[in-house]
Amino acid sequence: MLPFKLVYSEKYFLPIGEHVFRADKFRLVRERLLQRGEADESDFVAPRAATEAEVMLVHSPLYVNKLLEGSLSAREELEMEIPYSAQVVDAFMLHAGGSIVAAEHALKDGIGINIGGGFHHAFPDHGEGFCMINDIAVAIRAMQKRGVIGRAMTVDCDVHQGNGTAAIFAGAVHIPNTLPSWSAAALGAPQGAVMTTGPSKDVFTISVHQENNYPYMKPASSIDVNLPDGCGDMEYLGWLDNALSSGLRQFEPELIAYVAGADPFREDQLGGLNLSMDGLKQRDELVFRAAHARSIPVMVTYAGGYAREVADTVAIHCNTVIAAAEVYRAAPSEASR
Ligand SMILES: [Zn+2]
Repeated sequence: MLPFKLVYSEKYFLPIGEHVFRADKFRLVRERLLQRGEADESDFVAPRAATEAEVMLVHSPLYVNKLLEGSLSAREELEMEIPYSAQVVDAFMLHAGGSIVAAEHALKDGIGINIGGGFHHAFPDHGEGFCMINDIAVAIRAMQKRGVIGRAMTVDCDVHQGNGTAAIFAGAVHIPNTLPSWSAAALGAPQGAVMTTGPSKDVFTISVHQENNYPYMKPASSIDVNLPDGCGDMEYLGWLDNALSSGLRQFEPELIAYVAGADPFREDQLGGLNLSMDGLKQRDELVFRAAHARSIPVMVTYAGGYAREVADTVAIHCNTVIAAAEVYRAAPSEASR
């Protein structure tokens, strides 16, 4: 039995037809975890659908109404890059509710994992890049609304920048500036990447992503790490470590929302980084250890993963659960005592 819960529903499946986004990956993750004895049935809890009111903590009423009524324009639908249907909207509402449930469990157990979610390209007034509802932001705002947390941090490790999340939490004024003292040479870190920071208020956003990739317009996160093409395990882990340490020096979150994208993998069809499967597991461990050492609860969502072989994407997502089990089995955190 795992020392935390996995949030999953068979209704996470998105009926989007033949697509590079394999919507059956959520089910395959659950099956693999059970088959290999990494989890048992009692580790899984069911999500509930997010309510309209919860979704509107992040998204505009106009946009939410368009989703519920099916009145998106052709252009809006095109931007989403997945076909619209009422069933797809229902699935996204469930993923968002699942992230809320994962956040609730995180606050109780130290960590909670949504076997879904991570739709970080959804903006307040529109969706894009396979993302309709920003479940990460909805879960954070729902916890803040209940008054159970004040400050949160997003740690987005998908290969694509978390543009929707950055925009949602940016506020009106957000001018990023490059800190020359963080040059690669000064940090002893690998050359080639650029780290920039901007102001933060109640949510501090960190995004570690490939610079030369979608989205081409990248709204500033609190910390953006723009990685060069082909970045490998050691460089990646060095930059992630720098960004995490820097973020946690500047800001004390009461919840971390970790976006564990599987698409920095070297075999990903939509990614241009060069991480190995083991490097991705080390990435997960790094985030979990940083949070665990400081007793900060972590809510995990999955986000992208488009490996040529779906089994690779599924293995990477399963490794996130295994990495969490290794870190959280070792010793209970303050948050879970
Ligand atoms: Zn992605």
